[in-house]
Amino acid sequence: MVNLSPMMRQYIEIKDKYKDYILFFRLGDFYEMFFDDAKVISKELELTLTGRDCGLEQRAPMCGIPYVSSESYISKLISKGYKIAICEQLEDPNETRGLVKRDVVRVITPGTVTDGNMLDDERNNFLASIYFDDSGFGVCFCDVSTGEVFISDITNKESQKNTDLERKLINELSSFFPCEILTNSKISKYNLIKKFIKIKLNAIINISEESEFDLEKSTQDILEYFEKQTLSELGFFSNNSPSIIALGALIKYLNFTYKACFKNLSSLNFYLESQYMSLDLAAKKNLEITADIKNQDKKKSLLGVLDKTKTPMGKRMIKKYIEQPLVNSVVINERLDAVEELVKNSLSRLDLTDSFSGIFDIERLLTKIVFKTISPRELLSFKYTIKNIFKLKQALSSLKSSLLTKLNNQIDLLEDIYKLIDDAITETPPALLRDGEIIKEGFNISVDEYRDILKNSKNYISKIETDEKARTGIKNLKIKYNKVFGYYIEISNSFLNKVPENYIRKQTLSNCERFIIEELKVIEEKILSASDIVINLEIEIYNKIINNIANNSVRIQKTASAISHLDVICSFANIATKNNYIKPIVDNSDIINIKEGRHPIVESLLKNAPFVSNDTNIDLKTNKISIITGPNMAGKSTYMRQVALIVLMAQIGCFVPASFAHLGVVDGIFTRIGFSDDLSSGLSTFMVEMTEIAYILNNMTPKSLIILDEIGRGTSTYDGMSIAEAIVEHIASDEFGGGKTLFATHYHELSELPNRLSNTKNFSVAVKKNGDDITFLHRIVPTSTDKSYGLEVSKLAGIPDIVITRAKQILSSLESNIIPKPVSDNSQNSNNNNINNNINNKLIDELNKIDPEVLSPLEALNYLYKLKSIVLD
Ligand code: ATP
Repeated sequence: MVNLSPMMRQYIEIKDKYKDYILFFRLGDFYEMFFDDAKVISKELELTLTGRDCGLEQRAPMCGIPYVSSESYISKLISKGYKIAICEQLEDPNETRGLVKRDVVRVITPGTVTDGNMLDDERNNFLASIYFDDSGFGVCFCDVSTGEVFISDITNKESQKNTDLERKLINELSSFFPCEILTNSKISKYNLIKKFIKIKLNAIINISEESEFDLEKSTQDILEYFEKQTLSELGFFSNNSPSIIALGALIKYLNFTYKACFKNLSSLNFYLESQYMSLDLAAKKNLEITADIKNQDKKKSLLGVLDKTKTPMGKRMIKKYIEQPLVNSVVINERLDAVEELVKNSLSRLDLTDSFSGIFDIERLLTKIVFKTISPRELLSFKYTIKNIFKLKQALSSLKSSLLTKLNNQIDLLEDIYKLIDDAITETPPALLRDGEIIKEGFNISVDEYRDILKNSKNYISKIETDEKARTGIKNLKIKYNKVFGYYIEISNSFLNKVPENYIRKQTLSNCERFIIEELKVIEEKILSASDIVINLEIEIYNKIINNIANNSVRIQKTASAISHLDVICSFANIATKNNYIKPIVDNSDIINIKEGRHPIVESLLKNAPFVSNDTNIDLKTNKISIITGPNMAGKSTYMRQVALIVLMAQIGCFVPASFAHLGVVDGIFTRIGFSDDLSSGLSTFMVEMTEIAYILNNMTPKSLIILDEIGRGTSTYDGMSIAEAIVEHIASDEFGGGKTLFATHYHELSELPNRLSNTKNFSVAVKKNGDDITFLHRIVPTSTDKSYGLEVSKLAGIPDIVITRAKQILSSLESNIIPKPVSDNSQNSNNNNINNNINNKLIDELNKIDPEVLSPLEALNYLYKLKSIVLD
């Protein structure tokens, strides 16, 4: 540091405190980055890397961006996951001798942005704080841009494994999808979570020492922030749950990033796992609830079908509805009744829909108000929103259902705030506060007085112009203004001989000259100081108005929240009308009885053929498990997903695609569908399958709905079939608490199961066969099928005829246990080899099943007989 220039020394001292951040160091009109930060910036933003003498032998690498256009650069860096510390000049360089004081005034990270350009209207931007305790996890998800906070404690039942606890947290993380996570160092014990955060969320993690997480300090910070005396007033269930520490860490971090305590978190939403349907990551993915599996496209998901919301708040809320279906039938029916009322009352529905169009993003506008970053134009859009709230309340006035009445009561007309903005702010304010002309005439006496001075001074300038024209006889004499010279008199070259002596020359141009006179200077000073005074006065008044509105943030947030719920209910009603959905009966029974059910997404995507509806009748007594067989492409997966989606739709309070539905609430939907490996997590296809099944078997209850599609296909036939059969037996047995299950399989052997399991039934998907061709009827029938039609489907897929013909030969000989020679091969050897291979495979399969260490002599003898029969038969 010895030889460093004073400024560079200042830079290094500040950078030392913000090692993990890109330091934006303000130098005049630029933010400059130095050393490694400069290299990173120049690469990421494709800017030229320069250098600056810093007192050392080598120049310091430097890269700069203009202050005026910094927003877009910051937004690019944030989207790439960088954290930025903004270091400003704290003194006016023109009035300071020596080094200007500088310090960091704001830290910007992906999870703490509030600027609209960096946010997606349709998605929340969650910052998570997770405290890992030995007894469980405290989690807290906060969207700083909307002020919402969701808090929960995740604990394990004693019998459950640690990996299940991890999976529960992963389920939460996959719902909130945070982009930044604060946590303690105990996270190192949880590999599954670490991998998920890194690979799936791609979120940045800030890990702090254990000493930073303290219950007492957290409690104190929380109570101070929310100005409360006790934690229970805020809704905490206990005084020592891990979530208190998680929230404490979050508040501490927000104070650090904003360098001030902005109180925009106004309400805490405590949720219990048991409040929502358990919907793990696999289920969300397989049921395509917010994006389709193939392209991650929202349009082809359940959210895409149901989302007809009009406001950004509604768009964010409907996603929450879909990701967190309810389990309380009373609350579900409240939502369904509200949707029903709007379906029946189309006039109110249309009025309501109409009024949403004029409602802006109140939640994010409010955050800007609290952070004092709202522009005058945005404040006007807030005013127009309030105007539409009035219309919205009018549309609600004739509606009677309990939820709509509740939401209506929660909506505040905010008339006082409307009046304040309407009285104070002009109808056409400039984009920037510094440009003035924001405050309406008549709102503030001082502003009016100074404006008057300005106006009169301008008149006075016109008078000087007229007088000077007359005095000098120069007809085209003009008084003009620019930022460099202020007011000046411009005289064209042809009249220069008439310029009087008191004119002071300021500038010579090719066709004219510019002068000033004493009188003009005096009036200019008056005008400039008045315009400075009026602008500062306007800013002061504007900030007072903003503060005043910010003090009402609880009222505004309640209103915004009610509007977001209404928007979703209205969207459900609109889509129910458009798509011909019906109101389901939802209760606490164990029945799933659906007549003419349809798959909401496939139905909406089918263009050339009608969707074939199907009935479903399952319960916990005689129809607990449906074994569904049928050809590939027949519609097994579609049917099973359709049942799950209808149940899910009902439990979010939406009407369902069916002609009748009686649905007992399920506490969770578990799915095991399709084949995918997860190489990034180091898991093979079969391992992914088995891990998912293990999670289902460990977490299912009699109230769960389980969808199993093709279990055991990733291993050898006998292994796969055995595991599939054992799983069905396990779920069927009441001893292990399995729930209603739909199980699609190509192992036709499993259709024997209903013969010995009284609660298991066979179903299949009907096809029409015509010679070698088949037609898919997509109809579920209560009988099993003994054929997969794999070859027919392969033919449809375009496999060459020669391959199909050969496959048919192999199939028929496999069925009779003899492999014929290939069409082009006549040798007897080859035939014998095939037979031997077949026998070998069977022997290996059998031998793999035996563990000689545990065999009794009798079992060993029996196996010997079995092996002998394989060879000799
Ligand atoms: P596989 O065993 O190969 O996985 P599958 O029996 O599960 O096949 P699905 O994937 O459910 O078959 O359905 C295949 C296609 O058939 C769907 O993409 C859809 O286009 C169509 N389909 C399925 N069910 C219906 C239906 N009920 N009405 C109309 N079309 C349907």
